[in-house]
Amino acid sequence: MNNDINNIKNNIENIRRAIEESATACGRKASDIKLVAVTKTHSVEEMLIASESADALGENRVQEAMAKKRLWPSTNRSQWRLLGHLQNNKVRKALQLFDTVDSLDSVDLAMTLNRVSQEMTRVTSVLIEVNTSGESSKSGVALGKFYELLDRVLTCRNLSLEGLMTIGPLSENESDVRRAFAQARALSEKARALSALPLSILSMGMSYDFRWAITEGSTMVRIGTALFGSRE
Ligand SMILES: *Cc1c(COP(=O)(O)O)cnc(C)c1O
Repeated sequence: MNNDINNIKNNIENIRRAIEESATACGRKASDIKLVAVTKTHSVEEMLIASESADALGENRVQEAMAKKRLWPSTNRSQWRLLGHLQNNKVRKALQLFDTVDSLDSVDLAMTLNRVSQEMTRVTSVLIEVNTSGESSKSGVALGKFYELLDRVLTCRNLSLEGLMTIGPLSENESDVRRAFAQARALSEKARALSALPLSILSMGMSYDFRWAITEGSTMVRIGTALFGSRE
C-alpha cells in the first residue's frame, strides 16, 4: 500500500516536533537526535519522500535492500543503515548496499565484517547491538558477552565503532522500557571510557517508545510505523 506524499511529509514533521518536545522536556537539544526512517516493506517511492527529511534510511533485510537499490537514483545520497540481523554469508552483499551495520551482535560477525571490509578497502561504521530486554527472541549480544565483543571490535582495523543500538522490550510498562534503555546508555558510557572513542551514537527508540528513549539519552531514533503506517 502506497502512502500519500503529503502524509509522509506530515508524519515526519509531527515526529520531529515530538522529538523536539521530548528533548526539551529533559533539557536536551533536538539537533542531537537523529531520525532514521525505517523503510522495510515500504516502496522506493515512499523511501524517496522520507529521504528528503530524515537523516538516514533503515532497512532490515539484505535481500529487500538489494531489490530497492536497483531502483534507487544514484543522485540520492541518503545514508542506508542495516538494522536487521546479518548472516555471515550475506556480509559482502550487505557492504555493497549499506553505509553502516547497526546490528553487530557477535564476535564471529565482527571478524567477517572486518575481513570483507579490508578486502573491499573500506572502513565500515558499526554499532554494537545489545539485548537489553532479556527476551531470547530479540536480537543483539547478551549483556554477559558485551565486553568480549567490544574488545574484539576495537581490534578490528576496518571497523569503526560509533556506538550502540538496542531494541526496547515489547511492553507498555514505562519503567520496564526505560530500564532497558538506561542499561544501554550505561553500557555505552562504560564502552566510551574503556575505548576512549566518542561513541556518539546511542540508537534506541521506535514508533511507540522513542519519547522514553530520548529521556534516557537516545541520540538516534528509528521510526517506521509512525511515518508510513502499519506494515502488513
Ligand atoms: C522495524 C524496526 C524499527 C521500526 O519500528 P516501528 O515500530 O515501525 O517504528 C526500528 N528498529 C528496528 C531494528 C526494526 O526492526
